Amino acid sequence: MQAKVNETIIELVCGDITEEITDAIVNAANERLAGGAGVDGAIHRAGGPSIMAQCRQIGSCPTGKAVITTGGNLKAKYVIHTVGPIYRGGARGEEKLLQNAYRNSLELARQNGLQSISFPAISTGVYAYPLDEAAKIALKTSIEFARENNEIKHIRHILFSSRDYDVFCLQLKDLI
Ligand code: ADP
Repeated sequence: MQAKVNETIIELVCGDITEEITDAIVNAANERLAGGAGVDGAIHRAGGPSIMAQCRQIGSCPTGKAVITTGGNLKAKYVIHTVGPIYRGGARGEEKLLQNAYRNSLELARQNGLQSISFPAISTGVYAYPLDEAAKIALKTSIEFARENNEIKHIRHILFSSRDYDVFCLQLKDLI
């Protein structure tokens, strides 16, 4: 499913983010940029050691912020590493932090002259963010960014299961 907001196509896709050929893919990293399970492990495995070498040089990334490295052996040129919040009930600023993770990733892509970016469903795995709420925040932030900026032409949200894809579709229909 896709929607056009000004000059930007926002697209939902069921698939594996490591296969994406966009200018950048986003990694749901941890604050130590140490790699780990889930999408983080998959990206480092597929991209090879040059990504981790750059992560070590950068050192760390606070929750809600984003940093950029090469894409290594990936088809994408860059990896933007952002850190989503761990969900602890919803009253600890999680919504704002998740919004910041998306927003700062898009901002970093724009600053680097990138035109296309692919996101996983940040925080919805090990970090336990409820999927429907996380989908709404992800898509609202993408739509708002596309309304305010026209440099990024393509924002893709890559969902790893058809269940996640369906939840994102429902939220996107609600928002446009
Ligand atoms: P977090 O710690 O931010 O919750 P996870 O990696 O545990 O990050 O999960 C985030 C989302 O990424 C989950 O929906 C998970 O199913 C999904 N995911 C895992 N591997 C991939 C992949 N290769 N491509 C796209 N999404 C993936």
